[in-house]
Amino acid sequence: MPDLRIMVQKYGGTSVGSAERIKAVAERIKTYVKNGFSVVVVVSAMGKTTDELVSLASQITAQPSSREMDMLLSTGEQVSIALLAMALHEIGIDAISYTGSQIKVLTDGNFTRAKIESISTDRIMKSLRENKVVIVAGFQGIDNEENITTLGRGGSDTSAVALAAVLRTRDCEIYTDVNGVYTADPRIIGQPIKLSQVSYDEMLELARLGAAVLHSRSVEFAKKHNIRLHVRSSFNYEEGTIVMPKEEMMEKYVISGVTAKRDEAKITIRDIPDRPGIAARVFGLLGENKIYVNMIVQSTGKDNKASVSFTVLKSDLDRAVKLCEGLKKELGASAVEAKQNIAIVSAVGVGMLSSYGVAGKIFQVLSEQNINIEMISTSEIGISCVIDDVYAELAQKVIHRAFIDMEQQ
Ligand code: ASP
Ligand code: MG
Repeated sequence: MPDLRIMVQKYGGTSVGSAERIKAVAERIKTYVKNGFSVVVVVSAMGKTTDELVSLASQITAQPSSREMDMLLSTGEQVSIALLAMALHEIGIDAISYTGSQIKVLTDGNFTRAKIESISTDRIMKSLRENKVVIVAGFQGIDNEENITTLGRGGSDTSAVALAAVLRTRDCEIYTDVNGVYTADPRIIGQPIKLSQVSYDEMLELARLGAAVLHSRSVEFAKKHNIRLHVRSSFNYEEGTIVMPKEEMMEKYVISGVTAKRDEAKITIRDIPDRPGIAARVFGLLGENKIYVNMIVQSTGKDNKASVSFTVLKSDLDRAVKLCEGLKKELGASAVEAKQNIAIVSAVGVGMLSSYGVAGKIFQVLSEQNINIEMISTSEIGISCVIDDVYAELAQKVIHRAFIDMEQQ
């Protein structure tokens, strides 16, 4: 396809949230067409449409069939693709909309969280060659029996990146309602910095640790296919943030993001025997009961006894505590304790791979505020501390100040 300069763009729900917004998006697309691009546009459902559809279903049943859920949720995107095509026609731009099934976005059969397996480029290429803007419904596909599937909430990002991959474009624009990826949540840190570049791994780590800007699978896909994602606002023409391979980055911070996750709770099982099989028993049982466990810290004490602390989603806490209470006797544990009010505050950055003393400095700034660290875990490019939830904002501020504000001076 060397003859066409293809640009894949994705517009999120807020960007197409009203008729006015859809017209504004059409104008933006027009500038790309005038500049010689063959534009492929992926759109989300308008505004909060998907949430409203979820809520409608819940008014009918507490346990909707997942096939029917996908049938329902996929309708949101069908509305926005048609309206955007009309808005383009209205300003003299030829355009055609397609559902996932029309361009054969084939997925596995896991309703509500399907994975894309292939996309046919035939129909898209034919329309592009006819000088049409191609508008594709994000978030949806079909399985091999032509059932409609969806890719999980926020999945339009992944639709866009998958299209960029099959159309072999290096760049993909993701339009949203913020100017890019910031070093922290602006509601907490007054003036975080907008990153001009960030690596795939940092984006995945930021999402895992509570700062979800993009659908994680879209970032994995982009990494695998070496696609640069330009995350930017559809409300202005400023440059946003490029999500890219770390080897190509010109700008690297030691820490490029500070996050807090406040949806988890901590459980501690005290004085369990320090011998093989105990952890397997506890976490095996939690796993069998589909309880997602995040951080795990074991500490050994006296007399061959150990304590183990771990975090689970707050929504699973009661169930998890009951299961652990049930094991107390079998394990000979002295207590099962639960704490709801925790926050997991993390710092993420590829620069950590090549700097010393990052963990020490984080612990230092927390201790200066008398913040007690209850658990610590690290990954290659992330350090996370469990602290009392009352300090969640303060902790993010002091870490941000120590690493990011300081580096800027
Ligand atoms: N409309 C879907 C959602 O709200 C998909 C998306 O926006 O990416 O989750
Ligand atoms: Mg969205």
